Amino acid sequence: AKELNPGGYCFYSQTKDERSVDRLELEAELRHAAEKHQLRLHYQPKIDMASGRVAGVEALLRWQHPRWGLMQPDQFIPLAEETGLIVGIGYWVVQTACHDAKSWSDAGHPPISVAVNLSARQFRQEDLAERLGSIVRASGLAMNRLELEITESMVMRDPDAAADAMRRLRAMGIRLAMDDFGTGYSSLGVLKRFPIQSLKVDRSFVRDLPHNGDDVAITRAVIAMAHSLRMDVVAEGVEHQGQFDALLKEGCDQFQGYFCKPPLTEPDLVRYLEDERRR
Ligand code: C2E
Ligand code: CA
Ligand code: CA
Ligand code: CA
Repeated sequence: AKELNPGGYCFYSQTKDERSVDRLELEAELRHAAEKHQLRLHYQPKIDMASGRVAGVEALLRWQHPRWGLMQPDQFIPLAEETGLIVGIGYWVVQTACHDAKSWSDAGHPPISVAVNLSARQFRQEDLAERLGSIVRASGLAMNRLELEITESMVMRDPDAAADAMRRLRAMGIRLAMDDFGTGYSSLGVLKRFPIQSLKVDRSFVRDLPHNGDDVAITRAVIAMAHSLRMDVVAEGVEHQGQFDALLKEGCDQFQGYFCKPPLTEPDLVRYLEDERRR
């Protein structure tokens, strides 16, 4: 029966006898996903708008389940967050991303940054900075090549505690980005309280560029404000030339999106970096 369960973690297999997976089953499977080597990171390039070259990548989590196939974050991250499993998974993500980024520079590629999405639950861990510090050190990656993407709602819950945690991460050299900017409750002015190096304009403001005059005005204001606070601006979800041209004209620094590349498997990303070196 196709009924949504209240938790919303319902999905269906592709087989004929479609069935829903309940959250207990999902949780039980997710608990062992890391040790069973079922978690994967895909990497989406962040492209420098002026040069067209890769400035960094964002790690995006996937779960390759033996029976359910390739699971996208929205199918399991909310449950991972609620159950606390995200904390352990999150450290796996940072460890893997740092290890991979180190291997790219060891292979002779330029020292690009690697960004990891943090969840609210992780961000509230007392020992976050300490544990991240030892993970990065163990990987051999320079601290300033790791970037953490944090959302407005994560910092607005308890702005003082958030500012504190962010200062500790910054003191170690880790970079911070504000993700999905514009979708939360914070005003532009609030940003100056946080030690953020880059601001990611949410896809919803990019979607209707260049035709929607309001979105053009919002993008322009956000870019001007971010630059006056010495932050870089990254546009998300750029899918076509018209959006790219509008963002370039407004002085946006970097973009991500299908206009360049979707999230790539690690071997595909390495091939992309190799192709770029030959260009
Ligand atoms: P996000 O951080 O906003 O990531 C961007 C999402 O937009 C990704 O979806 C990406 O695949 C997608 N995207 C990229 N370019 C385009 C485009 O041109 N058009 C469109 N329509 N979409 C594009 P994905 O990979 O499904 O991730 C969804 C969300 O799951 C992420 O949103 C992030 O909030 C969360 N997430 C992903 N990986 C992790 C992780 O390791 N830890 C945590 N806590 N959250 C994660
Ligand atoms: Ca992100
Ligand atoms: Ca985002
Ligand atoms: Ca988003």
